Amino acid sequence: MIESVLVSLAASTRPLLVCDVDEVVLEFLDPFDAYLNSVDHRLHPDSFRLTGNVRHFGGEAATAEAVDAFQEEFFRTQNKWQKPARNARETLDRLSAGADVVLLTAMPPRHQGVRRTLLDLLGFHFPMIATEEPKGPVVRQLIADRGVPAAFVDDIFTNLHSVRAHAPDCLLINLMANDIFRTMAPDPGERVHKAESWLEAERLIRRHFGQD
Ligand SMILES: [Mg+2]
Repeated sequence: MIESVLVSLAASTRPLLVCDVDEVVLEFLDPFDAYLNSVDHRLHPDSFRLTGNVRHFGGEAATAEAVDAFQEEFFRTQNKWQKPARNARETLDRLSAGADVVLLTAMPPRHQGVRRTLLDLLGFHFPMIATEEPKGPVVRQLIADRGVPAAFVDDIFTNLHSVRAHAPDCLLINLMANDIFRTMAPDPGERVHKAESWLEAERLIRRHFGQD
């Protein structure tokens, strides 16, 4: 899967934009809460995590195993629930006029078919890599030795820090679609820029790419 993306990028001299999917390109938290409601649970925004915050309508917290099982079923049927994040499609369409866009999702490969179909249905026709490997080495491979400017957008700090370690010149942007959880997020760490919206992310990316 990464091989075909590498082949398509090999001759490109355009800047590279690598984007996570859940909470960046597609909403995850609101649709996951809608799914949970369908099985008599709710996601309570009490702190910046899922485990402990998923509770039965009666108040009892779901175990970590139960949360894993809910996520598995949610991703299996994601096309019923997930929607584009606000301004994601329009912004990526604009940016893709002057940059190569690659979607990098930490989805287990068994769910990649339904995700690809959903992304295409919603108009995100960008190449996608689904892997549970750390993202830093993947981004480094995508940049390769082409010397192009690169930017990486993700809501999860460990992914941003992985890219920081493996692709030191890559612009790092922390973006999270969900307003409530975003306000609870801790500081994203050194060299990670926090964007409140796709429009703010676009300004940062264009400046880094010399396209502002
Ligand atoms: Mg994400």
